[in-house]
Amino acid sequence: METEVVIIEEKNIDDVAKENLKKAGQIIKDGGLVAFPTETVYGLGGDALNPKSSQKIYAAKGRPSDNPLIVHVAEFEDLTRIVSSVPDSAKKLAAAFWPGPLTMIMNKNDKVPYETTGGLDTVAIRMPNNQIALELIRQSGGYIAAPSANTSGRPSPTLARYCVEDLSGKIEMIIDGGQVGIGIESTIVDLTCEVPMILRPGYITADMLKEVLGEISIDRTIIDSSSTQKPKAPGMKYRHYAPKGELTIVQGSQDSVVSYINEVTKTSMEQGKRVGIIGTDATKDLYKATIVKSVGTRDDESTIAHELFKVLREFDDENVDIMFSESFDDSGIGQAIMNRLLKAAGHHVITV
Ligand code: AMP
Ligand code: MG
Repeated sequence: METEVVIIEEKNIDDVAKENLKKAGQIIKDGGLVAFPTETVYGLGGDALNPKSSQKIYAAKGRPSDNPLIVHVAEFEDLTRIVSSVPDSAKKLAAAFWPGPLTMIMNKNDKVPYETTGGLDTVAIRMPNNQIALELIRQSGGYIAAPSANTSGRPSPTLARYCVEDLSGKIEMIIDGGQVGIGIESTIVDLTCEVPMILRPGYITADMLKEVLGEISIDRTIIDSSSTQKPKAPGMKYRHYAPKGELTIVQGSQDSVVSYINEVTKTSMEQGKRVGIIGTDATKDLYKATIVKSVGTRDDESTIAHELFKVLREFDDENVDIMFSESFDDSGIGQAIMNRLLKAAGHHVITV
């Protein structure tokens, strides 16, 4: 199949853009797939209420079909039509964070096919904060199932060119809306437990949720790499975000991290390996390798979230064999960054 790529600027949704969004909406209504930008990462969208569309999403991504999809809505009222009841906590969280990078899990009703929820009786729902995504959802009939628009296992796409790389020829359309704002996927919170539980950390932090809900718990399996229990979000058990080369996270004081990485880089380069290093604005000039990338500044960790997946993809583009990354604070948005980085590294961490 030929994949059409259309460019739309979020800040300038003119008549041509509206026409393209209408066309994209019709593709989804007709059971086809469209990759589109959200504020977190690019999504691969299909009609969430059409079981065949969800099956196509799994096939295009090579995603295991027990890994449920997030349903994207543009109006809070649309949420009320696909769940068995709306918990008070959902109203409060939506008022505080929607549209935004927060996914809520509730009990589904019969409108939502099991193909979309990976066989579960619960459904994950989010309202993205991106005008292209919101207009596309409206044009598609209100419910878009959209996992990240990457081949399963690879880093999530934060630029349309990575959707093209992974999905070209497999889907009808890709909407290029430029680099996304946040760069890591939404926080997932399960509202079906007695105390709401974070199943995946993201830009909306535990403290932010606690402020609205009073109480919040966290699925321990996602922060404790030695846990042998199954994570509650089925997708969290899979290898994810993996670059093609081998990634190691190095933790310790700045000086010891820099000298350790420089030492192993030298040895690896002598063995003819291409080495990539993930540093920050403060350290990038201290490393002695050909490919050194800064992911941002520790003073504002959202800069790191913004760049992380892009940097992992760039290392792939440059055929890097081995990568070393600094470690980041495991609090606030750092928790989401470390969750993704640890998965990308297959939990390979060295303390120096
Ligand atoms: P992605 O859309 O690629 O960001 O992945 C969606 C994530 O949401 C996966 O980790 C899923 O396992 C998780 N998820 C979606 N629906 C549910 C649900 N009903 N219960 C638990 N986790 C869910
Ligand atoms: Mg994903």
